[in-house]
Amino acid sequence: EKQDNRNNDTNPQSNTGNFQPTEEQMEDQPIKIGFAMDTLTEERWLKDRDFFKKSVEDLGAEVEVMASHGDDALQIWQAETMISKGIDLLVIVPHNAESTAAIVEKAHSAGIKVLSYDRLVKNAEVDMYLSYDNEQVGTLQAQAILGIVPKGKYVYIGGAETDNNAHMAKKGVFDVLQSHIEKGDITIVFDQWTKDWEPANAKDNIELALDANNNNIDAVIAANDATAGAVIEVLESRGLAGKIPVAGQDADLAAIQRIVDGTQAMTIYKPIKELTDLAAELAIKLAKDEEIGDVVKVNNGKMEVPSILLSPTIVNQTNIDDTIIADGFHTREEVYLKN
Ligand code: BGC
Repeated sequence: EKQDNRNNDTNPQSNTGNFQPTEEQMEDQPIKIGFAMDTLTEERWLKDRDFFKKSVEDLGAEVEVMASHGDDALQIWQAETMISKGIDLLVIVPHNAESTAAIVEKAHSAGIKVLSYDRLVKNAEVDMYLSYDNEQVGTLQAQAILGIVPKGKYVYIGGAETDNNAHMAKKGVFDVLQSHIEKGDITIVFDQWTKDWEPANAKDNIELALDANNNNIDAVIAANDATAGAVIEVLESRGLAGKIPVAGQDADLAAIQRIVDGTQAMTIYKPIKELTDLAAELAIKLAKDEEIGDVVKVNNGKMEVPSILLSPTIVNQTNIDDTIIADGFHTREEVYLKN
């Protein structure tokens, strides 16, 4: 006859056999959060990963991180793996805004809520969205460049078409430029997405833009610092770096150094620790089914997603010290003593 270990287990602390934890013991278990990331290529995502881990652990919870490096099928598999391992909440940075909707459904059928982190999952019943105001990112970029070049030929190097943030930022840019385009002051001579945010693709785009205009362009708005870096490399090779203002986003160290050098006009600073601290707090509240306070609503094609959008900050030569250095985002040594 087969023995039933449950009844014979005299040690209630034992973790072996079929011992079922009591409700009290379940409550003692730390909350487990799964962080399904996309790429770790841009400098910021390493901060997101490391700071989020710290933010979660500081609140007494645990986190498992997986990154899919631009592979949609892998991202779905990783999320499913974490769901089946019994996480209490899923935090996701979608690579593809649309295909990750499948992950939200999978999580929900396992009774797990989903927090969309930095990037919005489209057409899914996302429980919460936390990001910086991505439209504002574009607004600040366009205002900054207009301040330097009020009339002329503009090039727009967009982000990845599969990333909702790229669309939001582009909307912010063009909402600002529209009336200047209508007046005839600004002409958009090139406007393309950058597949997967890859600098190599941004390079191809800026080469095309310059060739088509005999190098005759006046300003470039690039969706982030990695693509801005690619643009500036090409401008350098044509003797144009520093002559054509370039906007970026992320406050990458290399971008701040280019701002000091004068080859990049501005970037957008999004303090990542602020984002991860709030994300960790929200994640734990969601895992415990607690109420989230004040939120705004962002439509994702399927519903009005309860959201919190933090404010991005512009950084140019005038305020590097007061922003990223003051915050310790980069050190003064890193910024000014690069060689
Ligand atoms: C983020 C940017 C980042 C880009 C590429 C966007 O969704 O908001 O900060 O540079 O993805 O990873």
